[in-house]
Amino acid sequence: MSGSMLQCPRCQKCSGKKIDSQRSVCSACSEELRRVYQFCSACRREWPKGMTGGSSCTLPGCAVRAALMSNQTITANTSSVFRCPFFRACPRCKALLTHTGWGCPNIVCPHCSTRFCFRCLKSGPCFSHCEMVDNSASLRALGV
Ligand SMILES: [Zn+2]
Ligand SMILES: [Zn+2]
Ligand SMILES: [Zn+2]
Ligand SMILES: [Zn+2]
Repeated sequence: MSGSMLQCPRCQKCSGKKIDSQRSVCSACSEELRRVYQFCSACRREWPKGMTGGSSCTLPGCAVRAALMSNQTITANTSSVFRCPFFRACPRCKALLTHTGWGCPNIVCPHCSTRFCFRCLKSGPCFSHCEMVDNSASLRALGV
């Protein structure tokens, strides 16, 4: 995949073209819909309708969704959270959190004091090798 072509959230084809820092347009969907189909390349949703100007997305939860969908993972191979997504949403208050990489996989949310496991996202404590989950359930729970 070349840097300028992006996967469109509607047709899932790599026919999106970046026209602004966050705004992209899909030529395949634009042709099919007979209107310009634009999407946010950060949160991967249709660009707010009627918002033609501006280069930053105004959809709720854009930054949180973008962080949860990033491919960035924890790369310290001695860490208890090795290969986990770099960002997690707190299962209770949905705040965006990350792990220092040190110590056990359990973290405490600084916003709501919920203790949960960074690997399986269940309320902790977890000490053994639990099943690592991706962020798809968190993205659904965000509901934005
Ligand atoms: Zn498309
Ligand atoms: Zn967005
Ligand atoms: Zn929280
Ligand atoms: Zn766990």
